Amino acid sequence: MAKALQQGATIGILGGGQLGRMLSVAASRLGFKTHIFEPGANPPAGQVADQVTTAAYEDTAALTAFANAVDVITFEFENIPADALDTLEKIRPVLPARNALATSQDRITEKAFLTNLGVEVAPYANIESDADVAAAMESVGAPSIMKTRRFGYDGKGQSRLKSIDDGASAWNELGNTPSVLEGFIDFSREISVIGARSQSGEVVCFDPGENVHRDGILHTTTLPAAISGSLRMDAVLLTGKILNALEYVGVMGVELFVTPNGLLVNEIAPRVHNSGHWTQNGCVIDQFEQHIRAVAGWPLGNGERHSNVVMTNLIGDEVLDVETLSADASVGVHLYGKAEAKAGRKMGHVNKISPKTA
Ligand code: AMP
Repeated sequence: MAKALQQGATIGILGGGQLGRMLSVAASRLGFKTHIFEPGANPPAGQVADQVTTAAYEDTAALTAFANAVDVITFEFENIPADALDTLEKIRPVLPARNALATSQDRITEKAFLTNLGVEVAPYANIESDADVAAAMESVGAPSIMKTRRFGYDGKGQSRLKSIDDGASAWNELGNTPSVLEGFIDFSREISVIGARSQSGEVVCFDPGENVHRDGILHTTTLPAAISGSLRMDAVLLTGKILNALEYVGVMGVELFVTPNGLLVNEIAPRVHNSGHWTQNGCVIDQFEQHIRAVAGWPLGNGERHSNVVMTNLIGDEVLDVETLSADASVGVHLYGKAEAKAGRKMGHVNKISPKTA
């Protein structure tokens, strides 16, 4: 276990998007420096970090120099190539650790892990061949969703099946890459829990938020979620179970479906999560600070929510509404400093708070 980092220490962050940016701000508030590793030019995190390395994940020399220049390494995305991790891990601790990445990078590994843990997931079948497609149509059937096992995000790498005759075309659409067929869940709500675990094994979860997606991208997260107290408790306990089973260090997002038979896990993300942005204005200590505390070997903060919150993502041109939105004195504005408001691009978010009701 790494020793607690002292003020002035440097946290290395793989990925320079908005999550890396908000992690950098939190690290800076705690007296740390940050160093971003990002292949793309002018990353949003670069505007607030102390240092940026612009290099590919295949550039072993750049990875080595980066690792030597920092005290601990964390990341804002889960698809870090295994070879890059091999290089980095030899030099500095990478947190959350590799087992969590390996588990969540592949939907089949993730579902097997959750099932072993006694956590419910949608019925699923692995697909690697035409014969697997036929078998999956037998066992899971339709309606269902086929998803690539790796590299999916914001609804990308997915195909919906209305009938059992759609199997072959769906797999073609996904490029015949290894995939999973999931039974379509007729859920009443989507919720997520943002949980944190420290190096000493302390677990703190934020309240479950209720998520609404638009075009496959998160649109709003609302707190409190309109679910019973016992379901909220179930969601939090289940998240703690996952964190402990992985001996996880850092913040994780757990996405859940609410069904008449209880909760199903859709997916887990071994990082700070878009559906946890509400914590920035709804809690004294937000998900970004919680993550930095965990990877720095500090105790976790209090995850209690002091207000009701609605987080709304600003996608593409919606960022132009900021002038109007900011006229509301109870709206916290968070912009990512991206130059171009391309369609579908996350440009920022706002958190509207109101007095806590539940
Ligand atoms: P994912 O990329 O797995 O998070 O899926 C994106 C969105 O698709 C989810 O947030 C759900 O709204 C929907 N979805 C994914 N899997 C299922 C499923 N098995 N049944 C019903 N809806 C799903």
